Amino acid sequence: LSDRLSGILDGLTGRGALSDQDVQAALREVRRALIEADVALPVVRSFTESVREKAVGVSTLKAIKPGQQVVKIVHDELVEMLGSDAEPIDLNAAAPVVIMMVGLQGSGKTTTTGKIGLRLQKRQNQKVLMASLDTRRPAAQEQLRQIGEQVDVATLPIIAGQTPVEISARAVQAARLGGYDVVILDTAGRTSIDAELMAEAADIKRAANPHEILLVADSLTGQDAVTLAENFDEAVGVTGIVLTRMDGDGRGGAALSMRSVTGKPVKLIGTGEKMDALEDFHPSRIADRILGMGDIVSLVERAAEQIDAEKAAAMARKMASGKFDMNDLADQLRQMQKMGGLGGIMGMMPGMGKMKDQMAAAGLDDKLFGRQIAIIQSMTKKERENPALLKHSRKKRIAAGSGTDAAQINKLLKMHKQMADMMKAMGGKKGGGKMRQMMG
Ligand code: GDP
Ligand code: MG
Repeated sequence: LSDRLSGILDGLTGRGALSDQDVQAALREVRRALIEADVALPVVRSFTESVREKAVGVSTLKAIKPGQQVVKIVHDELVEMLGSDAEPIDLNAAAPVVIMMVGLQGSGKTTTTGKIGLRLQKRQNQKVLMASLDTRRPAAQEQLRQIGEQVDVATLPIIAGQTPVEISARAVQAARLGGYDVVILDTAGRTSIDAELMAEAADIKRAANPHEILLVADSLTGQDAVTLAENFDEAVGVTGIVLTRMDGDGRGGAALSMRSVTGKPVKLIGTGEKMDALEDFHPSRIADRILGMGDIVSLVERAAEQIDAEKAAAMARKMASGKFDMNDLADQLRQMQKMGGLGGIMGMMPGMGKMKDQMAAAGLDDKLFGRQIAIIQSMTKKERENPALLKHSRKKRIAAGSGTDAAQINKLLKMHKQMADMMKAMGGKKGGGKMRQMMG
């Protein structure tokens, strides 16, 4: 997707505002990305429509291309739909707080029960009791008992012959008597949604009065995610969603589908079979993943925030005239510093990891911009406007003033000269390379 999309982005050139055409072209790729990420089709349709309405007519920033700006709008809209903040499990109720896990068989309910038990007990200092209500599969209750042993979280003793409702009542009772803060009820699933499963879940809900009802769903669920979420939400009223197997190939489209049909937050994601493979849900990371564009989005975002359009215009005029003094260099350095320094900028560009290492080896670390700005600040006004004045004695004074040395000053002067030459060469011409784009 990245390649296709950057192709489209390159094809779009700057005009004053986003045209319908710009938006359509970018949205075609976005739609494809959503479908590839397994977002349910009706959700894809309503989502792209709402982005289209928002995007057409938005004025473009000079520093970025229209297509990139559409991507930013898409990204922001995705984040908003996914829920802007990570929502934790709500334990704000009288103890024992009951958490009920629901979902299809094999979605990861039992595993996630153990993961949540471990997390609440270890990180949040809660005394947790876990109980398996899965009477259908003989080994299910034993599976949870073993997980409990492994993570050192208590499980309800197994008594043969009880119904799920009876077990849930016994679990809540045991938790009350034992002074537990939290009870997690791991229910049985089916391979597909059926009326019996929903009725059982509703019965358990009535008996145990859960504060949280977490729908556990495989992130590879794809187009079925909508039906799944709707059915469980109608039957028991889901309070949150846990997406499992986010370590796999699934791109998280199910998160968007389920969130948009139920309005319920995705609270946690499972990222492996191990008991500590549970993470908070970060909408912006999932939005990136759904779009499949990695950090390019955040580069666009930061550029949009930091690059002041007016300054960019002034810079372009300067470049056209071939003038680029130390004040201009200081401006550029400050901009780059705002974008996260060298490390930040390089880290956002695909394939730059190695180059970053090489630069670090050459002493070009993240503090470089700060030191260079200090050098420029130690110059007089005249020196900044005319760096050719900088001879030995002046350099000595500047080195003392900025806490650097002559070698560093020479490096900066060389860099300035190279940039000034390059700008002269590019000045006035249409188009231009990466450097000019980055410089605004
Ligand atoms: P249940 O039938 O809903 O209780 O599902 P289980 O908890 O028994 O999980 C079924 C399988 O999925 C097990 O082999 C788990 O180890 C595996 N599993 C659960 N969550 C994850 C996850 O986040 N990532 C991966 N890779 N495997 C998982
Ligand atoms: Mg299970």
